[in-house]
Amino acid sequence: MSQVFMDCPTTWKPVYVGLNMEWNQLEALEPVATDPNISNCPHCGKSHRFEKRDLYLRADGGG
Ligand SMILES: [Zn+2]
Repeated sequence: MSQVFMDCPTTWKPVYVGLNMEWNQLEALEPVATDPNISNCPHCGKSHRFEKRDLYLRADGGG
C-alpha cells in the first residue's frame, strides 16, 4: 500500500490525506473527490478540500 498525499495549497508541503491505496485504485476514483477532506492541515492548520488531480502516492518507508 502507498500513502496518498496532496500538497498543502498554503505551504506547498505534502500532507497525508488519510488514505492508503495503489495507483490503480487512485485512477479509479471519481475525477472530483469531495470526501474525505483534510480538517486540520499539519502545516497551516486550515481545512483543505482536494480533488483527484491533487493527489499523489508515496510508498511506505520511502525517502
Ligand atoms: Zn495546509
